[in-house]
Amino acid sequence: MKSVYDIAIIGAGPAGIATSCEAVIFGVKKILMFEKGDNHSQTIRKYFNDNKPVDKDWKGIEVELKGHIDFQDGTKESTLDLFEESLGKKLIDAKFNTEISKVSKLKNRFKIETTTGETYFSKRVVVAIGKMGKPNKPDYKIPSSLKLKANHTISDCKGNEDVLVVGGGDSACEYAYFIHQDNRVTFNYRREEITKANPKNVKNLMNCIEDGEIEAKLGVDIEKIEDEDGKFKVFYNDGTIGKYDRIIYALGGVTPKEFLKSCSVSLDENEKPFIDEKNKNSAGVYLAGDICGSIGGSIALALNHGYNIVTDFAEVEVREAISA
Ligand SMILES: Cc1cc2nc3c(=O)[nH]c(=O)nc-3n(C[C@H](O)[C@H](O)[C@H](O)COP(=O)(O)OP(=O)(O)OC[C@H]3O[C@@H](n4cnc5c(N)ncnc54)[C@H](O)[C@@H]3O)c2cc1C
Repeated sequence: MKSVYDIAIIGAGPAGIATSCEAVIFGVKKILMFEKGDNHSQTIRKYFNDNKPVDKDWKGIEVELKGHIDFQDGTKESTLDLFEESLGKKLIDAKFNTEISKVSKLKNRFKIETTTGETYFSKRVVVAIGKMGKPNKPDYKIPSSLKLKANHTISDCKGNEDVLVVGGGDSACEYAYFIHQDNRVTFNYRREEITKANPKNVKNLMNCIEDGEIEAKLGVDIEKIEDEDGKFKVFYNDGTIGKYDRIIYALGGVTPKEFLKSCSVSLDENEKPFIDEKNKNSAGVYLAGDICGSIGGSIALALNHGYNIVTDFAEVEVREAISA
């Protein structure tokens, strides 16, 4: 008979780490965590530039932290250090390089299945997989000969390239700003105004545009792309054409609907999961972090979700254990 964990957490980003940290502090004994990457915090490792300033009150939204992780303004590196400390790897059963494909509700426990066919059982499940596992893609075709140079992050940028950054959120603003000194950057967003990003990011970008350091293509969309001598030939819907060595698509992430459905999580008409004030779905599965659909996501909100979830069941359990 396989052992049954008290809580299983899927995803070791800020939300999953906060859930495990609070669970340890609240005395929950058998904690299992799955992470498909080889280390925790894959979104931060992959999508944050080195030395990127990390804001606690992201996009100017003030969040009062409820839990025990003392997250403050810092950098990518200081944030990763904080999460490394908070994860408490020795106190939990953390399984890296392990992707979960399905969660089914049995009578008094959940069955959790990995993509390699292993199964685990737990009394509770927290889905904290974020949205960046599947980045949004454009709806026009990218020539297959250029696919390797159509990226979602700036990690492959070589310098001295003509780079087109497409998007209107924080990743797009941060990427364009970060690479503009070593590359010739064009910034394309289909709307005239950037309204969804952190005001600080918008200011940095607009200053560069005003100073002529970044070319702006605002309020225009891309119609099609052709390969011309190994470069992207981009046709905009205002009739102009641009030529670039590389394109960075910073279009945010997609809600992993199929995964949520395979965990019996119900979605509303906007394809957002239903959750109550304790982050619980009608299927009895908890959801934490960006996957809950909070505006653009935030690390501080993700940490509060972890606290919310653990206080929902742990206090009762600890009291029951003491009185038993
Ligand atoms: C460029 C950029 C800059 C940002 N800057 C800031 C900032 O300054 N301040 C701020 O507060 N927020 C910022 N954010 C937002 C912040 O990164 C997110 O809100 C936060 O990471 C959400 O945490 P999460 O735990 O919900 O999800 P994630 O951080 O996305 O973590 C999810 C984890 O789950 C794992 N996973 C996914 N699927 C599975 C599966 N099936 N099985 C097992 N594991 C799985 C992933 O590998 C990942 O490690 C920024 C985002 C971006 C993209």
